Amino acid sequence: MLNDKIKTQVSCADDCDSEAISVETARRKILAKISSINSTEKLTLHQSLNRVIAQDIVSTLNVPGHTNSAMDGYALSGDDLPETSILQYQVIGTAFAGRPFEQPCFAGECVRIMTGAVMPAGTDTVVMQEHTEEVTETKIRLTSGHKKYQNVRQAGEDISKDSIVVKQGHYIQAADLGVIASIGIGEVNVYKKPRIAFFSTGDELRSIGDTLDSGDIYDSNRYSLYGMLKKLNVEIIDLGVVKDKLSDLREAFKVASTQADLIITTGGVSVGEADFVKEILEEMGKMHIWKIAMKPGRPLTFGELGKTMFFGLPGNPVSVMTTFYQFVIPAIQHLSGQGARPPLTFEVVSESALRKRRGRFECQRGILSRNETGQLTVAATGKQGSGILTSMSRANCLILLSEDCDGINAGDLVTVHPFNTYL
Ligand code: AMP
Ligand code: MG
Repeated sequence: MLNDKIKTQVSCADDCDSEAISVETARRKILAKISSINSTEKLTLHQSLNRVIAQDIVSTLNVPGHTNSAMDGYALSGDDLPETSILQYQVIGTAFAGRPFEQPCFAGECVRIMTGAVMPAGTDTVVMQEHTEEVTETKIRLTSGHKKYQNVRQAGEDISKDSIVVKQGHYIQAADLGVIASIGIGEVNVYKKPRIAFFSTGDELRSIGDTLDSGDIYDSNRYSLYGMLKKLNVEIIDLGVVKDKLSDLREAFKVASTQADLIITTGGVSVGEADFVKEILEEMGKMHIWKIAMKPGRPLTFGELGKTMFFGLPGNPVSVMTTFYQFVIPAIQHLSGQGARPPLTFEVVSESALRKRRGRFECQRGILSRNETGQLTVAATGKQGSGILTSMSRANCLILLSEDCDGINAGDLVTVHPFNTYL
C-alpha cells in the first residue's frame, strides 16, 4: 500500500531552510575569501575619479597658505576695535586676492580688503563692509560689538603641512579631487580596476534583435548587471549568453577565469534538471557557499576557480539585483582595495503593511518620499515577486527586513537602503 505522504525537500518557497546561512555570515565568509588587488597605475587627477587611491597623499603645503580675509570689508588690529563708542579710521590702502597690500597698518588705520586677500601686517580682524560707514573715500566709522579675529581664515586651517589629506584605500570622489588639487598634486597612484566577467545561463534566453519562440525570453540580467557594474567603475567583460549545456558552461567558466578577477553568472544555480552551475563550480574549482536565508536570492553560489572568485547568482531578475547589492558590491569594494563599506541605511516609517515570514532576511522594493507633513516615509512598490523587475526600476530603495521580523504594519519603522542616488 502507498504511503499517504510524500517525502519533500526544502525549496526556495519555504521560509526556513536549515542548510541556508544568514546574510551576515555569508557576507563575512565571502569577504574572508577575497584578496584585494595590489597592482597599481599612475593617473592624472581627472582620471582618478571613482578609483581607489593606492597611496597616502601628504600635503607639502598649508591650505590656505596665508592668513586671509573671509569677507569683503576692512582689515585692522583687533586690539584697535571700538569698545563702547563709535571710532573713525584712516583707510591706508587696498588688499586684493592675489595682490597683497605690502605696508603695515597701525592704530587708527585700516586696510580695505577683499575676500581671499592676505591680511596685511598689523591686522588680524576684518569688519565686513556692510557693518561700516564710509565718511570719505579714505575714512570709515565703526561701532562697537566686533570681535578680535572675526572674518579671518587662518593659514593651514583647512590642511596643515605634512598632514595626510587622503588615505590609501579611499574611493576618490569630487571633493577629493578638489582637496588634492588644492595642494598642487596632479598625478596619483591608484589600484588597477578589478576585471569582472559575466554571462547569463539559460536555454530560454534570447538577445535583443532575435525573435522569440514559445517560452523564450529576452536576457535582461546582463543589462541590469552591466548597469550596476558600470556604476562601480570596474572593467567589464560581457561574455553573453551560455546554454544550459555542461560542455558550453565548462568552456565559458574556463574562458572567464583566464580573463577576470571575478566572474558573475546568473541562472542555473537551483536544483532543476538544467541547473549545472553549482556542479561545474564544484568540479572545476571550490564552492564555499550555496544557500543563503534570504528572499529573493536564496540559491546563490560563491566560490573560486583558481585565482578567480566566482558568484553564481540566481536567474530571477530581482534576485540578481538584490544579491548584487548584498554580496557582490561589498566583494568588489574589497577586491578593489577600498575595503567593504556597509551601505548607508536608516529607519523610516512604512506607509505600507508588508507581509513577511520569520526565518529569512528579505529585501523588498520601496519608494522613499516625503509625505504631506514633510516626514520621510517608504511605500512598497507593489507586487514583490522575484520576477517582477519593474518593482526594482520603480524603486529608489530596498526595504531590509531582518530574519526575525514576521511582518510590518503600516506606521511601523523599517530599515531602508537607498540606491540610485546622485553625487
Ligand atoms: P534559473 O535560476 O535558471 O532557474 O532561472 C530562474 C528564472 O529566471 C527563470 O524564470 C528564468 O527564465 C529567469 N531568468 C534566468 N536568466 C535570466 C536572464 N538572463 N534574463 C531574464 N530572466 C532570466
Ligand atoms: Mg535556468
